Amino acid sequence: MKRLIIMALSVAFLFSCGTPSGKEELYRNNRSPLVHKPYMELPLGAVKPTAWLRDQLLRQTTGMTGHLDEIVPNIMGDRNGWLGGDGDKWERGPYWIDGLVPLAYILDDEALKAKAQRWIEWTLASQQEDGFFGPSEDLPNVDGLQRDRTHDWWPRIVVLKYLQQYYDATGDERVISFMTKYFRYQLETLPELPLGNWSYWAVERGADNIMVVYWLYNITGDAFLLDLGKLLAQQTAPWKDRLSDHSTLFTRYELHCVNLAQGFKAPVIEYQGNGDPAYVEAVLTGYEDLMKQLGWPNGMYGSDEMLHSGSPTQGSEFCSAVELMFSLERMIEITGRTDLADWLEKVAYNALPTQATDAFDARQYYQQLNQVEVSRRMRNFMTSYNGTEGTFGPLTGFPCCTANMHQGWPKFVRDLWFASDDAGLAALYYGPCTVTAKVAGGEEVSIEESGNYPFSEGVRFKVAALERPTAFPLHLRIPGWCETGSLKVNGEEVAAGKGGETLVVNREWKQGDEMELCLPLHIKVSRWYEYAAAVERGPLVFALKMKENWTKVANDGKFGSRYGDWYYEVHSPDPWNFVLLREDVEGEHPESAFVLEELPVAEGAYPWNVENAPLQIKARARSMTDWQPYGGSAGPLPYSDQYQAELGPVQEITLIPYGCTTLRVTEFPVTY
Ligand SMILES: [Zn+2]
Repeated sequence: MKRLIIMALSVAFLFSCGTPSGKEELYRNNRSPLVHKPYMELPLGAVKPTAWLRDQLLRQTTGMTGHLDEIVPNIMGDRNGWLGGDGDKWERGPYWIDGLVPLAYILDDEALKAKAQRWIEWTLASQQEDGFFGPSEDLPNVDGLQRDRTHDWWPRIVVLKYLQQYYDATGDERVISFMTKYFRYQLETLPELPLGNWSYWAVERGADNIMVVYWLYNITGDAFLLDLGKLLAQQTAPWKDRLSDHSTLFTRYELHCVNLAQGFKAPVIEYQGNGDPAYVEAVLTGYEDLMKQLGWPNGMYGSDEMLHSGSPTQGSEFCSAVELMFSLERMIEITGRTDLADWLEKVAYNALPTQATDAFDARQYYQQLNQVEVSRRMRNFMTSYNGTEGTFGPLTGFPCCTANMHQGWPKFVRDLWFASDDAGLAALYYGPCTVTAKVAGGEEVSIEESGNYPFSEGVRFKVAALERPTAFPLHLRIPGWCETGSLKVNGEEVAAGKGGETLVVNREWKQGDEMELCLPLHIKVSRWYEYAAAVERGPLVFALKMKENWTKVANDGKFGSRYGDWYYEVHSPDPWNFVLLREDVEGEHPESAFVLEELPVAEGAYPWNVENAPLQIKARARSMTDWQPYGGSAGPLPYSDQYQAELGPVQEITLIPYGCTTLRVTEFPVTY
């Protein structure tokens, strides 16, 4: 057995600022003096989803992402200000296109591309002599349309994000001159009209602006862009301090949930410019504090909309999930850290699938971790929208999510593979797909990635196309929840490493080579709010399986058209007030207390619902009489351990992956 190079990258790369090897780059890394990155995004379209992940994107195509202009024509139709109309002129149009562009180019769907192109063309044509672009005539906000603050920097930041992706897919050079002109305008104008001039959103989210400035700098090398990066960093909220001061995240109502999701990447974006590792450390500190104070096992946090508490009946906004994912994808690229990829999979494979319907025709503004009823009524959220925020509808809650939810899956797919800085390829989180990219001296390779991850152990890879045998490194993350992982090539183990490391296997690959990455999965129990227990297995969190009765409800129109014409409620006749047994939760062998069963699922079945859940866990539990519903939610979580509560007899309950549930209990009290 031949053992090949193995090295732990996550730490080694974190502080590496070296220059490239001198060879011509296959993909564009940061240009000096920006910090060198271990990984680089491949062009949009290089990664194609397969199996259920392709099905997921197709559901977006037939659902809201592909048809938002028809579903909410008053917002996304011809009247939109970003198409030159007198309708909505702020963030919503750009939000939609930021998800539509990657979906269109990943699926190579001409109709979707054409839909996005209208917006791109109008935007490019709207640029004025001084570099400013977009809607510029303020109008009063009527019929729920946001038409004032047209000069706000914030919606333009979203436009920059989709123009960057559009260029990454097409190489349309107009984007480069357009952005250069706009960034010169920003450099001249920001000293007088800073990011916060029109709203605080651009201050909170300024890192997204810096991100695109650096992207352009890497292409053009225009030195003024570095000055603009510095200026934007000065005007952006102090995320490095906020995440590392052990105070801000512990202060209720201090931050907005989506701002935090976006702000998490701010220190790492700025780190590229200042090279100070403390900026990366701040993110890790912030993550630890967030999970202590507000964290949920699905990677999200109780924040509805301002930071609230870690209670599993607080809310988590859909925008928070997709923005946090995008932040993590950017941070993984820049730092190579495997713990950030663990976090990303938590959000993508638990929180993300539950917040939209299977048909992608409706979404939930807030999801709850313990969510035992989805209905229109007021709950204990800090910000409410007449009780609609928990229901599934196109417009219930606040409509930002209707526009912003689309980026989640497509961007996740795009970054399933990165180019590595040593002319190889890197899979730093996993899902079924095929990548086609250049390696070594420019040879093109296609690798198929398959298996039933995250439901089953292991990930398979196959070199599907490679003209002649070629040596290049393959980087594969071993998740932190995994004790040791190993890689077999054509049946022979060639590398192994510990959880949290990245395997780097450099060898001559040839067409037809088959690899198997073994990542043994074990059931474990984690403890959360009120010391409640959650059952996890690898990237998946498990939750109580409940029968779900979905009903479509016509809106009463009490608030006009604000919340749309209809929404879904979901009710269950099943009991949910269960307590897990302490001996099971704290036992040394959770695998024997929580018994996993793989379920037969029809080939090609959509996995993210109760009917098709590919796994279940049988557990022992007792019902707790005093834990009852409160205002449509599970009542306040009883503290663990409960030792004098009135409990029913021990019975068997079934848990399924959180992402398959709509109604559920995820954090369980524990009893003697
Ligand atoms: Zn939102």
